[in-house]
Amino acid sequence: MSTLELLYDRKIYELWSWEPQQAVHQKARHQTARILPTRLTPRGNVRVAYLGPRDEEPDSLVVTKLARDNEVPALEREYRVYMDRLQHLQGSVVPICYGLYRGKVQGEKFACMLLEYYRHLMTYSIEERNFQIMRATWKLHEAGILHGSIDSMHHIVCSTAGVRIIDFSDVVDNHRCVGVIQGPHLSYPNGLAPSKTGCPELVLVDKIYGPTDLLYQRP
Ligand SMILES: [Zn+2]
Repeated sequence: MSTLELLYDRKIYELWSWEPQQAVHQKARHQTARILPTRLTPRGNVRVAYLGPRDEEPDSLVVTKLARDNEVPALEREYRVYMDRLQHLQGSVVPICYGLYRGKVQGEKFACMLLEYYRHLMTYSIEERNFQIMRATWKLHEAGILHGSIDSMHHIVCSTAGVRIIDFSDVVDNHRCVGVIQGPHLSYPNGLAPSKTGCPELVLVDKIYGPTDLLYQRP
């Protein structure tokens, strides 16, 4: 059993986990996370924390995603997606997941998922970002995940290490992707703009982040 002592909001939360997979990423089985005041989401449930072995001053930055009471099942679902479907994409397309810890605080369920720390700083061009978003979406679909909200930049992190897709509590996790089907060019009067059908999310992502339409490109 692994434990996590969470120092949050001037309180100490004792959480634990039985997941054997955690050993892959963990340096120690008994750790302390000290949550910093900065919120990464308006609701304040995603925070940056310092993580380290218990009884030492924690000094590794991680992202914590917190859930209380009726929010816990959604966080558990998201954790399962990270571990069952996205294990091979952690650290490239999605953040590395270091584990999920659960506990009870004053009779109320509480859970905390630890994720790779990412700094929001784009060191590449918009074109490169768009290409990475499209590539990441294709990788998710190959893994059977239809995200459902990639049209919103709230679920895309542009970090120094590259683009990461986040938030998997409400995804379709048994997606059988048909890819994008290039439509007949002749259906357009000028024959320049191909219509595309197929997987709705891939078509949408291609429309939003794909290269500019031929009609608007310089000859
Ligand atoms: Zn698809």
